[in-house]
Amino acid sequence: MHLLISVQRLTAGRPPMTKVGFIGLGTMGAPMAHLLRSAGFDVTGMDISADIRAGFDGAVAPSEEAVAQADVIVTMLPEGRHVAQVHENLVRKVAKAGALLIDCSTIDVDTARDLAKHAAAQGLEMLDAPVSGGPAGAAEGALSFMVGGSDDAIARAQPVLSAMGRKIMHFGGPGSGQAAKASHNMICGITAMAVMEGFALADAMGLDLDKFYALCAGAAAQSWTLENRCPIPGVVADAPASNSFDPGFAARLMAKDLRLAQAAADSSGQPTPFGAKAAKAFTLFAETSGDRDFSAFYTTLRALPERKQD
Ligand code: NAD
Repeated sequence: MHLLISVQRLTAGRPPMTKVGFIGLGTMGAPMAHLLRSAGFDVTGMDISADIRAGFDGAVAPSEEAVAQADVIVTMLPEGRHVAQVHENLVRKVAKAGALLIDCSTIDVDTARDLAKHAAAQGLEMLDAPVSGGPAGAAEGALSFMVGGSDDAIARAQPVLSAMGRKIMHFGGPGSGQAAKASHNMICGITAMAVMEGFALADAMGLDLDKFYALCAGAAAQSWTLENRCPIPGVVADAPASNSFDPGFAARLMAKDLRLAQAAADSSGQPTPFGAKAAKAFTLFAETSGDRDFSAFYTTLRALPERKQD
């Protein structure tokens, strides 16, 4: 009796905790969902994999019951088809009136727009909010969100997003977060090819690659990719190349992001010839070495047959 009264006193006047249904507890989702819990949200984690569920306290298989209770439904799933499936089978059927839908997965722009349209027809607000920052950013709450959706939805999502990230950039209506992510990642993919090709040429001509790196890092060839993904073992101590090409950012994810950029180029009509070449090269490479860091492509590049004189 005493206990009941003191609990009632403690909770009196406090707003009820926001319930978050977090679907997809993989490499990125689990640390993001943990951050939401630490920030005081009432999080129910959901994943189709029993092994993954075993690693997240209280996680359940995705179900109508769990989704129906959520005020905010966050998805962090591999591809557009997974997000579409979860929306079709669960969210559209049972999401409560006024629930806010936030998709943080990296998916194609057309699917993101389509999902937002279905949500709006149901009277629900939806944001596409893909991230940059990788597993380290997810663990530290240092992600950057590229967001598409209404001003109202962004304002409602602010406490959730700011518990997981430091930078929230609003690009416009539905799909514009994915559009920014695809365009940004295409720059990264093309830059990666340029860095690797530059080092391959320098190596083929017998240059000292430590010295060549120092030149590039202090000159116009400087970039994030150069400084963090230099493909020569030992040149940058904590780059994946100096650690047997352990990712980092797996080549299969780079290939996926570049294919999404190509899908965006197709639907917008903008030719992106270098993006297309990078997408093709990384997709081929990922067929055999998808779990290695993307900078391991350098070894394939160096092993290509010698160029013939014209
Ligand atoms: P992951 O494969 O580690 O995790 C995905 C999780 O979703 C898995 O646990 C899987 O079991 C679960 N899942 C799949 N289908 C499901 C369904 N229908 N219902 C419930 N759960 C389901 O992937 P990740 O690395 O966490 O990436 C998630 C998303 O974030 C992807 O879109 C990826 O492109 C993007 N992303 C990843 C990184 C990175 O460095 N890993 C960086 C930025 C963005």
